[in-house]
Amino acid sequence: KVFEGEILRKKLHNTILELKGNIRVFCRVRPLLCDDGGDNETKSVSFPTTTEALGRGIELLQNGKKYPFTFDKVFVPESSQEAVFEEVSQLVQSALDGYKVCIFAYGQTGSGKTHTMMGAPGNEVEKGLIPRSLEQIFESRQTLQNQGWKYEMQVSMLEIYNETIRDLLSTNRNSSSESAKYIIKHDANGNTHVSDLTIVDVRSEREVQFLLNRAAQSRSVGKTQMNEQSSRSHLVFTLRIVGVNESTEQQVQGVLNLIDLAGSERLSKSGSTGDRLTETQSINKSLSSLSKVISALAKKGEHVPFRDSKLTYLLQPCLGGDSKTLMVVNVSPAASSANESLCSLRFAATVNACEIGTPRRQTSVRQVDARLSYG
Ligand code: ADP
Ligand code: MG
Repeated sequence: KVFEGEILRKKLHNTILELKGNIRVFCRVRPLLCDDGGDNETKSVSFPTTTEALGRGIELLQNGKKYPFTFDKVFVPESSQEAVFEEVSQLVQSALDGYKVCIFAYGQTGSGKTHTMMGAPGNEVEKGLIPRSLEQIFESRQTLQNQGWKYEMQVSMLEIYNETIRDLLSTNRNSSSESAKYIIKHDANGNTHVSDLTIVDVRSEREVQFLLNRAAQSRSVGKTQMNEQSSRSHLVFTLRIVGVNESTEQQVQGVLNLIDLAGSERLSKSGSTGDRLTETQSINKSLSSLSKVISALAKKGEHVPFRDSKLTYLLQPCLGGDSKTLMVVNVSPAASSANESLCSLRFAATVNACEIGTPRRQTSVRQVDARLSYG
């Protein structure tokens, strides 16, 4: 009985999503941490328990005022990494069905973006969306193989810092960035090529894990050399998937982009000079162009300013049309972060109000297969 109820709940959930379009916004509130503001730190968020808002609502208290928001899903501080992944797994799965998928983590530095995307390395329970997605994809590949599907997969990982691309998988770390051009091009089939970028064929989850570790190292080198660069840059993990069914000759090409965005905090304009000012300007520019692109896509037909930033230009084929986008807005519950949290929630609310592409009501046979295997 419980099981049947669960299936029904999921079916209903999918129908709602299909009617809504291809963009979803989840909000995740992390727990209060010891170093948030000492013993006197209070919380600025609460979660309404009315039927309509249950699991979807959040209320922020700032300067004595209450600001309510509703998203597709709200994760409370107690929500586990597993619970978050459960809500994302179908989206990840659709990359195997030939969809282009983008999952963004948005929020101020310290709000839990990296925890959500990557999690704690080496900790099974605390691993984040990226390792869990890979686990699922390689597991499903096995299942789909028995149905005649053969997959080839490739990984690339890059960082965008001050509108410049850094290759995180380059083995030639010191010299590569100077000589490499990293020019972004899209071909007529919607495939993206970045010149000089390292692309690695992967056959197992272990191979990808190895690459993730290499990238993490390459990121932390940047961190000490370039002043906490990691929170000032966007990390883009890309998995390209090409599947061929050997009996039907059907082909699918999917892309899964998992993106840990730069911290969204507004650095005080007066205080930032030199490098800091350049950083702030380029982060603000790319985050605002991301929201402009999403809004423009929702309004259909009007000019979509993909070229306004490296991030949106890179992801252009994965943002429009039939692709699927999820924004996870990460929020700290600390009262001392209420201003930034309000900015993040407002940003997310504008994204939430958008719909990309046309709602899909028809489910292809191929999708049903994959969904059943993940019922
Ligand atoms: P960001 O990447 O947004 O700067 P982090 O992911 O590094 O933030 O998170 C900041 C701190 O909060 C880290 O110590 C992280 O382990 C912790 N943290 C974030 N989210 C959670 C969570 N859901 N549960 C427990 N700890 C968390
Ligand atoms: Mg981070």
